[in-house]
Amino acid sequence: MKCIHVIACLMFLCGFHQIRAAEAFSTSKGKVVVTPINHATMVVEWDGKTIYVDPVGQPDWYKRFPKPDVVLLTHVHGDHYREAVLKVVCRAASTQLVAPPALAGVLGGDLKSKTISLGNGASTDKLGFKLEAVASYNTTPPRKRFHPKGQGNGYVLNLGGKRIYISGDTEGTPEMLALKNIDVAFLCMNLPYTMDVTAAANAVKVFKPKVVYPYHSRGQDTAKFKILVGSAAEVRLRNWYK
Ligand code: ZN
Ligand code: ZN
Repeated sequence: MKCIHVIACLMFLCGFHQIRAAEAFSTSKGKVVVTPINHATMVVEWDGKTIYVDPVGQPDWYKRFPKPDVVLLTHVHGDHYREAVLKVVCRAASTQLVAPPALAGVLGGDLKSKTISLGNGASTDKLGFKLEAVASYNTTPPRKRFHPKGQGNGYVLNLGGKRIYISGDTEGTPEMLALKNIDVAFLCMNLPYTMDVTAAANAVKVFKPKVVYPYHSRGQDTAKFKILVGSAAEVRLRNWYK
């Protein structure tokens, strides 16, 4: 086991990254293709646009994708935001970033000038599609210090009639539970930072996405999540970590 661990560490340090299968959904403007990258990071491709979500890790992870037209940032934590990585992957002058005000405020000058600051509940049409920012925060008192209300965004991407929700780090907030007509949801679940699989399943039963992918779920029993969700949604378990 020790040997395997050493090999895994070396692979990480050398920038090795497993290429993961993409997920595709039809829209009125062709397919939207979502590629899980790692943990909370994914790449969305649609209508000639490439959208990176919380790009962290090694710049090599993004080599096989076009440069991003849009980069969505959910919040300031290191598993979602690394300025050094952004500086590499956002070199194109045309790249547009979107971040909650709390994160937009700490970005360096070059990045800041490319950033739309979008507060909880706000939306923008400036990206070639409608993007809605959904508040992401902890609601359980001992966890509120991890993600205080007002600091982080989840996002709903409206892509050719499909509504894709990416939760960011959150619990089942009233804002999440009020979401309507979500076709695909990427839902976080891990303790102590977000919520457990039971709370995540309970949220799904309320806002009823058609398809849900657990993400940001390192070490969690996502098989149990799938059982708990039952027929309320189609749960797709993917490997975000190995
Ligand atoms: Zn976080
Ligand atoms: Zn996180």
